[in-house]
Amino acid sequence: MSYDNFKKLNEMSPEPFTHPRNAVVGVINDDQINEDRLRLIDFKVFRILNNTGNDVESPWFEEEDTIATDLLIAERLGFKIVGHEEITFTNPKDIESETSDILRRFEKSQKADYPKDGVVFRVLYNDDYEELGYTSHHPRGATAWKFKASEVVVTIKNIEWSVGTKDISPVAEFEPVLLDGARVTRASLKSVKNMVDLGIMVGSRVVIRRSGGVIPAVLAAAEDSLLVSKDQILSSIPKVCPVCGEPTFLSADYAHLECSNSECSGKFSRKLEIFAKMLGMKNFGPRNCLLLAERVQAFHEVFSLSIKDIIDCGIGEGMAQNIFNEIKAVTVVPLKNFLACLNIPKMGPNTAQLLASTYKSLSAIRELSVLDIVSDIERAGEDSARILINGIRDAAEEMDALLQFIQVDDITSTNSGNAFAGMIICITGPLSVDRNVWKEKIEANGGKFSTSVSKNTTCLICNQKSSTSSKYKKAVQLGTPIYTEEWLIDKLNNV
Ligand SMILES: [Zn+2]
Repeated sequence: MSYDNFKKLNEMSPEPFTHPRNAVVGVINDDQINEDRLRLIDFKVFRILNNTGNDVESPWFEEEDTIATDLLIAERLGFKIVGHEEITFTNPKDIESETSDILRRFEKSQKADYPKDGVVFRVLYNDDYEELGYTSHHPRGATAWKFKASEVVVTIKNIEWSVGTKDISPVAEFEPVLLDGARVTRASLKSVKNMVDLGIMVGSRVVIRRSGGVIPAVLAAAEDSLLVSKDQILSSIPKVCPVCGEPTFLSADYAHLECSNSECSGKFSRKLEIFAKMLGMKNFGPRNCLLLAERVQAFHEVFSLSIKDIIDCGIGEGMAQNIFNEIKAVTVVPLKNFLACLNIPKMGPNTAQLLASTYKSLSAIRELSVLDIVSDIERAGEDSARILINGIRDAAEEMDALLQFIQVDDITSTNSGNAFAGMIICITGPLSVDRNVWKEKIEANGGKFSTSVSKNTTCLICNQKSSTSSKYKKAVQLGTPIYTEEWLIDKLNNV
């Protein structure tokens, strides 16, 4: 909503809104549709997606397949589009200073028309964007730069102790305040050590700032905050776990507050959330996991739950059915997801991906020694490797139990032949799986994966009837055969 329309809206509203962001939420959530108010909200296109989540290729344009073309299509269709410009970096050394200049320029225009909180830098060509792929958190082809975050001072009314997979962490609660236009009531205090270092407890006045995460963080004690001693803070730390009621213990450096109960359902419910996320189950939010953890003490037990069992945990019938269906849908799990779902220390999604692509099979990974990891994986330290290996050993029983219910898709299991021997294969456009899955399969079967079409290219894989990607045009020009993903599957199965 523009600042102009925000002003108009407040003139026609009995209760003025405090910020355009709140105004949009207020107008959309209003029980009664008021067209005059709705018309004050703008919709601006940022990116065009098709239903597979990939960029639409642009059939009406002879121009190249870029995000700029996508926006042009949207504009010609009559949509408003986000402000954008194309920049070319001629010298890699200039990137930092030039991007900072751009950020400053956009920040200056911030107050001009409508509220903005940052700039997204993205590679121009949609093909390059796909090629770059994703980390476990974000696309590699784009990055968001936020303007300097704003800060607010609040008084801590209460501290909630949140049980994680390992630590119990403090979260500050306070009266609602506006931060960057959003209403916030909670901020992370990270750890007891952080509270001691900053001299903060219930009653303290503190500075909070939103720093990328969902909930803001407490930055420091405010200048007018009362001084509190270390002893006062330490005596306010809970002596028992807020979930299971067993005693807590605090490490000597105050960095870790833990529940002493190894079977604490609070800790397990957090692990269950991660487990479900890695297996692609979407209905395992914090609330449902805490309820399920009353009944489930190990991951594999999830697969034996009946709908009635789930309902008995206190979950509603409809949701129980969804959860049950989701569990039944998990049959074959990619190796990297299986490794990452087990909550093995040091086994984050990136490490899991690295181990999967290096060692290819679960059985190979289960046989690894500390020495293997240190010698095979760049930058792997001996201490981390030992923690990882011990973790894998400790998870052996759970792995075996899980394998009774699910199958792990080893990278070698489907890729042991020479189906693509001597071929050079290039891919464009959306696929049913991540492009890297095909890259690995092609390479493991004697083929070469190429990122561009040349006269040596055996074929181009494209699921769309036609495409304006540069690869597609090149293939047509050179007379390179163009097949769909089916062809790859058939080849792999020797059809
Ligand atoms: Zn506990």
